[in-house]
Amino acid sequence: MFNSLKPQAPDKILALMGMFRADPRTDKVDLGVGVYKDAEGRTPVMRAIKAAEKQLWDKETTKTYTALAGEPEFHAAMAGMVLGADYPKDRLSALQTVGGTGACRMGFELARMANPDVTIWVSDPTWPNHLSILSFMKQDYKLYRYFDAASRSVDFDAMMADLEGVKAGDVVLLHGCCHNPTGANLTIEQWGVVADLLVAKGAIPMIDLAYQGFGDGLEADAAGTRLIASRLPEVMIAASCSKNFGIYRERTGCLMVLSDAASKEVTQGTLAYLNRQTYSFAPDHGARLVTMVLTDPALRADWEAELEEVRNGMLGLREALAAELRQLSNSDRFDFVAQHRGMFSRIGASPEQVEKMRLDNAIYMVGDSRLNIAGLNAKTVPLLARAIIDAGV
Ligand code: PMP
Repeated sequence: MFNSLKPQAPDKILALMGMFRADPRTDKVDLGVGVYKDAEGRTPVMRAIKAAEKQLWDKETTKTYTALAGEPEFHAAMAGMVLGADYPKDRLSALQTVGGTGACRMGFELARMANPDVTIWVSDPTWPNHLSILSFMKQDYKLYRYFDAASRSVDFDAMMADLEGVKAGDVVLLHGCCHNPTGANLTIEQWGVVADLLVAKGAIPMIDLAYQGFGDGLEADAAGTRLIASRLPEVMIAASCSKNFGIYRERTGCLMVLSDAASKEVTQGTLAYLNRQTYSFAPDHGARLVTMVLTDPALRADWEAELEEVRNGMLGLREALAAELRQLSNSDRFDFVAQHRGMFSRIGASPEQVEKMRLDNAIYMVGDSRLNIAGLNAKTVPLLARAIIDAGV
């Protein structure tokens, strides 16, 4: 039977990681994989997470099963963080998931259970895993234009023109902040225009929020999501705790669903059912730490402070790279680097230019020229800027 299996295309980013490891050059720079790194290239365990782990070790008396959909305390803490303290409790259902990836998958499954004819609308480009999961599910999807290659900013007119094709009951996937892979994001006014369109069409927004706190701040990064949640009767939010809590391998995420109050019970039950059919309980450890950090004032304050350090560090690197490129190119054509938000920027290099930077300068970025700003430091910013200019970008 297994000899009928066909080889799967390797994940491009993971393949790039392998090439990076195998490169003997000592001055190599990894701007590929989407993981936060500090100036020394480490991905540290955040202070508040370490402190919560110590407390948990002391007080945890059992590791028996929890609740199928996850603990209500986790749901409430996540909803408070994403939607604000006054979120509509009577309309919210929530599911603890295996990372933000699991939240996306369960959101797609829920949409399809509710509407077998659903089309999922996805930005072009988007996080490649969105597309591969949808293809694997044999789920219909359509792309909407998003990125203007010339200005490296959102092509809002094209996006709105494409979303004119949305039908009632379709799901429109939006990145809540820090768009992956481009780094280009909607303004709050544009979020308002998108909300108007979705209301008019009777479509359901699904917001992938994987980087809250990495862009303009914990509250600011949720502004678009909150605007949508305040305007639309039905919303899905797939939140990841991997980046902002630095707990990648704990696999912690949450799918939140706003419905009308009358549908809440069945919606909540369906979410639990989806976990049950897939893996039963989501892993507990990360969700428990997140709940502790969000609900304990001292842990929360320390976590927010460290998250700000992380965010400001990335903003500083953006400013430094943009300044360096301004000087080398004698133009402002790279200023988008400072305007983009989050861990990523798509700098608009061709695949050949990306390859040239890898061969000549040992600089590794994804083939679509997405680079991870957090992979830089004060020493490598000038090297990257020089390489970008030398490659003819
Ligand atoms: N959505 C987007 C846009 C992402 O970039 C990521 C992380 N690469 C995720 C979701 C999910 O991350 P995880 O499953 O590790 O929480």
